Amino acid sequence: MRIVNFLLFLFTLVLVSCFETAQSIEGIDSEDISMEVDEVPLRYGIEEDAYKIYEGTIKKNQFLADILLGYGVPYGEIAALEGVSKDVHDVRKLKAGDNYAVFTNLDSTERASFFVVETSPANYVVYQLGDSISAYLGQKPIKTKIREAGGLITSSLYQTIYDNDLPVDLAGNLSLIYAWTVDFYRIQKGDYFKVIYEERFVEGKRIGVGEIIAAEFGHRDEVFHGFFFEEGKTSDYYDLEGENLRRAFLKAPVKFSRISSKYTMKRYHPVQKRWKAHLGTDYAAPKGTPIVSTADGEVVASAYGKYNGNYVKVRHNGTYTTQYLHMSKRAVRTGDYVRQGDVIGYVGSTGLASGPHVCYRFWVNGRQVDPYQQDLPSGDPIPEEFRADFTVKSDSLNQILQKIMIEKAL
Ligand SMILES: [Zn+2]
Repeated sequence: MRIVNFLLFLFTLVLVSCFETAQSIEGIDSEDISMEVDEVPLRYGIEEDAYKIYEGTIKKNQFLADILLGYGVPYGEIAALEGVSKDVHDVRKLKAGDNYAVFTNLDSTERASFFVVETSPANYVVYQLGDSISAYLGQKPIKTKIREAGGLITSSLYQTIYDNDLPVDLAGNLSLIYAWTVDFYRIQKGDYFKVIYEERFVEGKRIGVGEIIAAEFGHRDEVFHGFFFEEGKTSDYYDLEGENLRRAFLKAPVKFSRISSKYTMKRYHPVQKRWKAHLGTDYAAPKGTPIVSTADGEVVASAYGKYNGNYVKVRHNGTYTTQYLHMSKRAVRTGDYVRQGDVIGYVGSTGLASGPHVCYRFWVNGRQVDPYQQDLPSGDPIPEEFRADFTVKSDSLNQILQKIMIEKAL
């Protein structure tokens, strides 16, 4: 049944493509809720004709009371609203610039019955006033259109996407999908991308890019495909063979070791004799134990530092970087490319260390984190049970990718 639905979707996609000469295709609404016929016109799910509606934008330092006192709502009611709204959206934290609407009674009192604030282009919070004070979240209908695009890269992916008038979010999304396969710092002239993606709209306005459905990336004379596949707990990007585009990290940089100190924002430093953050994980192991890179990457530093001792830093992609400290000896040089499991040095106690160990540090987007608290890629291929389904989908999407033209940038 799933496959049938998907083929229908592809058929529509091809049909629509025929009527379009441009790169993008219009009119495929996979989530078109506006098709529902409403007898009563609703606004934020509230019957529009039953109230008078006043719209505004939250000003700097403006509180709920500043607005609602003007619409006949007593202080006591506003205070009660603060109580019930805490878990939904704290009314004390109204953000300047957010749009709001006050629904007042049609009678001469013009007392507010609802206060609605838009917290994002698609999301809003409704505060109900009067006898049944409450607060709840709502979402405007989101329309999704499937788009196709392609571009020949002359300088950077970002620049090409910008030059081709495509949503800039695409650059970020594509670089995440290909973080392990394409080195975005070494994009070459002649590299290209093709992409099938969702674009999301609220009330006719673009609110951003949704899921990237499929992509092709030509990089240094190699072609990398990425197909999104979601089923049960499986949700990732895979190549034509069903291999995961992401690579898993090794659990530890040394075998047969024990964690002697965990990542913590505060610990007593045994050498410096004071409390300080420890933004790494220490593995105690005998001097000379091989230290391996936990994933493929480029050695961006192989050096000696007063505190770090002999250390090696490996940049895995635009997202992840790891570092290994206190080595007795380094086995790689700056600029080397290492594979996962390659020996990059040996355990020691150089620099600020009380005994032989390796301090393992982990960065995500330039921020030091505890790798054991991260949702890191599993790297698993398509599970066998979904392989047939995946093959049908990826083959069809690949045919569409092949037809996308690569626009030459000016
Ligand atoms: Zn450490």
